[in-house]
Amino acid sequence: MLEAKKILKKYYGYEHFRSGQKNIIESILQGKDTFAIMPTGAGKSICFQIPALLLEGLTLVISPLISLMKDQVDGLKSVGIPATYINSALTSIEVKKRIDHAKNGAYKLLYVAPERLESEGFCQLLNTLNISLIAVDEAHCVSQWGHDFRPSYGAIAPLIKKISNRPIVAGFTATATKEVKEDAIKLLSLENTNVYMTGFDRENLSFTVIRGANKKDFVMDYIRENKEEVGIVYAATRKEVEAIYENLYKRGYAVGKYHAGLNPIERKESQEAFLYDDINIMIATNAFGMGIDKSNVRYVIHHNIPKNMEAYYQEAGRAGRDGEKSECMLLFSAQDVILQKFFIEQGDVSVEREKNEYKKLQAMVDYCHTTKCLRKYILEYFGEENVGDICDNCSNCKDDSELTDITIEAQKIFSCIYRMKERFGTSLVAMVLRGSKNKKVLSLNFDQLSTYGIMKQYTEKEIKDIMNILIAEGYLDLTEGQYPIVKLGKKAVGVLKNKEKVLQKIQKRKEKVSVDNSLF
Ligand code: ADP
Repeated sequence: MLEAKKILKKYYGYEHFRSGQKNIIESILQGKDTFAIMPTGAGKSICFQIPALLLEGLTLVISPLISLMKDQVDGLKSVGIPATYINSALTSIEVKKRIDHAKNGAYKLLYVAPERLESEGFCQLLNTLNISLIAVDEAHCVSQWGHDFRPSYGAIAPLIKKISNRPIVAGFTATATKEVKEDAIKLLSLENTNVYMTGFDRENLSFTVIRGANKKDFVMDYIRENKEEVGIVYAATRKEVEAIYENLYKRGYAVGKYHAGLNPIERKESQEAFLYDDINIMIATNAFGMGIDKSNVRYVIHHNIPKNMEAYYQEAGRAGRDGEKSECMLLFSAQDVILQKFFIEQGDVSVEREKNEYKKLQAMVDYCHTTKCLRKYILEYFGEENVGDICDNCSNCKDDSELTDITIEAQKIFSCIYRMKERFGTSLVAMVLRGSKNKKVLSLNFDQLSTYGIMKQYTEKEIKDIMNILIAEGYLDLTEGQYPIVKLGKKAVGVLKNKEKVLQKIQKRKEKVSVDNSLF
């Protein structure tokens, strides 16, 4: 490890390994297959680049993005590390030339896109090289359960089998749910794997969820107050990106935009303007970002919820890569959930995968409704254990509103769901509780239920808000699908039997004070 530390200083100019890096490098140098889960910005590249320099022969890096590949190789070359890449942009003569050089030991690292591995001929060429380590970047892409499935990752395991002298294999990802991890290890055919998960916590980031705000005003106010800071605003659609961009542009802000509707030149110019500080505000869809290594991003605002927690943490994680205090804010509105469901419906995926996507979306929605520490929610989602209850650096921990006893409301909701035979969604349940004369309510005779109209003093939205909290906290379950049905969760029983109380911090509403002060 002394050698590794010397290299860290010599090539990268850093004195110390970050948490986790040392163990991962050690594991690879001991010849063990290794699977490393590290959040974006934690420094995974060094974990395969340093072993690449210390091991004999060549390290093959499988990386999904052509632009990223070139950046990394340029970066390595600039500090004197011999590296190259092969991708579809090169002519076959150039590919052949690079392979020949690799054969002669001219490089320590060779980057390839996974699509290349689908070619039998190319794999044969690779087999002529002395490969000691295969590093698979964004390893979750091999799994259908990941958020970024790439079929070409399926070609990695057959390649490993073909190589006569089996190299060490190391997978890297920022996605850490248990099922993705296990699936990826299996599909990449890793053997006796050492698994490392390095601190997912990004202490310098604060997390905030804002529900029901006027989004336009929020973004404008925030940016006005933080004019000089570098930040990213993520929106769900091109249309929204354009609208936010226009709004800021006409007020004279140094702002750029990025989405898949722009042509490649416009996108490149926009990305570079941001990277080189010509503009300090970027408005973008999720097309922007994989591989963005800009250290001084001070805030990331999500104008709409992303499709899942993996995507959220990755995007929000682009803030504060330099370790300085930075803010991650998410603006929640129920409308956005409908849009995300629409995206799922539109996607051309198997029924099983679709179900999984709904489940992941629900976990994202729960994040927006939970009243516990947001950091704890995130870290537990990613499989960390023994996470403290309070971080003091998220909107829930900083929220000093008193805990409110909502046991009675919860009981009313539970018994109504029970009487409706657990067969309907939150909207219909809210209508019944409110005593609505809606056609469906009447035609199903729900006005005859003893729970009809027992929460008259609330609006339907307020009842749904309470239900959302109860869902996020596990008192209620939602089925997966476009029109989820709400059912009683395990925790509801104790409450119904009066054995357990439900205490929650309820976000105060600005617009209207409720009649029932015990709740708000
Ligand atoms: P990711 O895990 O997202 O791939 P990178 O490998 O791009 O992260 O690293 C993120 C940033 O952290 C880079 O700027 C990198 O130079 C820096 N970094 C990595 N390791 C260390 C270290 N031990 N000390 C200081 N900075 C580091």
